[in-house]
Amino acid sequence: MARLAGKVACVTASTDGIGFAIAHRLAREGARVVISSRKANNVQTAVDKLKNEKLDIHGTVCHVSKSDDRTRLLNETMEKYGKLDILVSNAAISPVFGNILETQESEWDKIFDVNVKAAFFLIKEAIPYLEKQKNSSIIIVSSIAGYSPFELIGAYSVSKTALLGLTKALVNPCTEKGIRINAIAPGVIKTKFSQALWNNDEAKTSEVIPFHGCAMGRVGTPDECASTVAFLASNDASYITGETIVVGGGMSSHL
Ligand code: NAP
Repeated sequence: MARLAGKVACVTASTDGIGFAIAHRLAREGARVVISSRKANNVQTAVDKLKNEKLDIHGTVCHVSKSDDRTRLLNETMEKYGKLDILVSNAAISPVFGNILETQESEWDKIFDVNVKAAFFLIKEAIPYLEKQKNSSIIIVSSIAGYSPFELIGAYSVSKTALLGLTKALVNPCTEKGIRINAIAPGVIKTKFSQALWNNDEAKTSEVIPFHGCAMGRVGTPDECASTVAFLASNDASYITGETIVVGGGMSSHL
């Protein structure tokens, strides 16, 4: 399928996990893709993997909360491919586990800096490029935890709720510029990030996820998120904006 032929995409935090799967999928659907993350060696490894499949990929270092890195990401995209049609804001961190009331101010600031503030400013900085293209689109990676907070990652969950709000807050300003903006809210997806949830004794001895009522009773895969992002980025989703699609195997998803 070449739904995204001719398009240029930028995906943050895309050297592993869901971001890597998104970059891979967008490229397999015909897009030229700029991948990025904090560590140069991770970027190089991911670029090599994708180029081995003869996909059109460029890689650069971008720690999303560093303003200079965001500027470089967009500048390099322009230098390499000359335009931007699809922006996927995927980066997030969850550095603390435990009771939300134990969260330190510095930890709260770090979580919101990377997960919310950097997402907003990258989008703001990318809009002048996206508005020049027809059918351009932004996809934010939120989380099921944004709907029903996970007890041990409370501050992270609240930051993901903020992204649901950000998606809605940006609909009108983006529509005025001809850009669609949507989000996905993954459930528990098998990546390093969520290892504690699927790689423990209870999960290993049970086929069924024992929490948050996952109707399908299994963890999801990064590819299952990537296919949803590819749909939202494509013209198949031309009348969809301001929405969040839950990719959660039937997990509860109401605010
Ligand atoms: P992951 O497998 O741990 O991948 C993390 C990726 O992010 C790596 O490429 C890492 O590379 C990069 N990264 C980390 N911090 C970064 C930063 N500040 N700036 C740029 N890149 C950064 O994580 P994942 O599970 O794929 O998570 C991706 C997104 O999905 C996140 O927004 C997460 O909240 C969301 N999500 C995940 C799940 C899940 O169950 N896995 C569920 C719901 C939502 P470097 O180390 O080189 O920076």
